[in-house]
Amino acid sequence: MRKPIIAGNWKMNKLHGEAVAFIEEVAGKVPNAEDVETVVCAPALFLKDMNEAAASSDVQIGAQNMHQEDSGAFTGEISPAALADLNIPYVIIGHSERREMFNETDETVNQKVKAALNHGLTPIMCCGESLEQKENDSTEAVVREQIEKGFAGLSAEDAAKVVVAYEPIWAIGTGKSSTAEDADETCGSVRKALADQYDQDTADKVRIQYGGSVKPENIETYMAKEHIDGALVGGASLKPDAFLELAEAG
Ligand code: 13P
Repeated sequence: MRKPIIAGNWKMNKLHGEAVAFIEEVAGKVPNAEDVETVVCAPALFLKDMNEAAASSDVQIGAQNMHQEDSGAFTGEISPAALADLNIPYVIIGHSERREMFNETDETVNQKVKAALNHGLTPIMCCGESLEQKENDSTEAVVREQIEKGFAGLSAEDAAKVVVAYEPIWAIGTGKSSTAEDADETCGSVRKALADQYDQDTADKVRIQYGGSVKPENIETYMAKEHIDGALVGGASLKPDAFLELAEAG
């Protein structure tokens, strides 16, 4: 049985005080904390203090990106070793904004997923098609390739630890969310790709989130679907009340 995982991706929002105050506000208030994992992925500068504020609460903290190397001459980057040293449990890898604006490729995503796992971090690996790819009916092929390349070289044991976030790019920040049926179909394709790459048992262990204009009003339609095990939420995760409502649907 896969435990649902609801994660907020704050992107480049909030200041330090607001970030810590948010965690203090939601800590201890997730009503169904035994049945759902909740994660807040925040700008790196806030992670240490947020993690301290979240200690002994049911909310976990994640980074939004990291470099694949442990250390070195990579000005401005953050290493997986540094995240692990702060006991940060989660890290988003390969968000479409990073693929589009910061030249991340399936190959770097693969290196980062491996580096995260090597440091005991759980990667939330993003995949998803553009509007053009959707209109060309290539969603399934695009997502399959992202999964195959992103998971390349991972053992079945490691693969089962990865969380996949299926986020159609056209649905991100647009208010145009995917229908729950379409999202479930593509999350099913992700699982099929994993079953082909590994085996059904491994594929059945991987948690797959849907992301793209998820909000308290629509999250339940996604969570009701067979292959959707959670949500990666941008804008609607910024307010404590909405975050708790999202968590409750998990
Ligand atoms: P929105 O929920 O704001 O559409 O963002 C989705 C997203 O990109 C989460 O990673």
